[in-house]
Amino acid sequence: MSTLYIIATPIGNLDDITQRAIDTLKEVDFVACEDTRTSSVLLQRYQISKPTFSFHQHNEHHKVEHILNILGGGQKVAIISDAGMPGISDPGFLAVRAAHQNGYQVIAIPGPDAVTTALASSGLPCDRFVFEGFLSPKKGRQTRVKEITESAITCVVYESPHKLIRFLEMLHEFAGEKRWVCIARELTKKFEEVDRGRLGEVLDRWKEKPSIKGELVVVIAGKEYDE
Ligand code: SAM
Repeated sequence: MSTLYIIATPIGNLDDITQRAIDTLKEVDFVACEDTRTSSVLLQRYQISKPTFSFHQHNEHHKVEHILNILGGGQKVAIISDAGMPGISDPGFLAVRAAHQNGYQVIAIPGPDAVTTALASSGLPCDRFVFEGFLSPKKGRQTRVKEITESAITCVVYESPHKLIRFLEMLHEFAGEKRWVCIARELTKKFEEVDRGRLGEVLDRWKEKPSIKGELVVVIAGKEYDE
């Protein structure tokens, strides 16, 4: 039966993949990969040999048609991204929407993502949260940061290492030094680091580092939170 699978893959540690994800990748007819070279490492490790094609932010619109054609032919296709859950700050949404709109079955195979992994390790309230993804680099950035600092519930932001200090400084400007934050870097990887504390002290610590590398998530507690 024509089915579009959305399959979560590891965010670092290649052991973090479910048996169901592996079985499904072995069963589908095609695998749409954000980067076919990156995914080939994972696919080879689990001895998955399938036709792949690229599906990334620059060809997503065009490749949705291709995915619909595959589904139209009665075949199964899986979407995977370089890390985590497709559609979460990654391509996926357009294809899922198109599959639904055209009456095809869509099945998500759950697994790792950086947002819930960071939240879970942050020790900050995660009963409710706002996921901001990546903030726009320029337009409206300051306004968004201000809104984040005014949130009553925890906010989660994906940030690149070279913009981290500027982002923390902007947060500091609006929220002050006492706000609780957590930086989760290189989750599930060898140099995993979870640094939590008040914004003032966390900012000082990260400013002292000679360089900031890798992938990171910033978790910001709601404005009333204290401990
Ligand atoms: N689809 C992914 C997910 O489910 O989380 C997110 C992909 S997005 C293009 C990449 C961003 O996710 C990184 O810049 C970083 O903010 C976050 N991220 C991904 N892997 C991470 C990791 N191992 N540790 C910390 N943050 C990570």
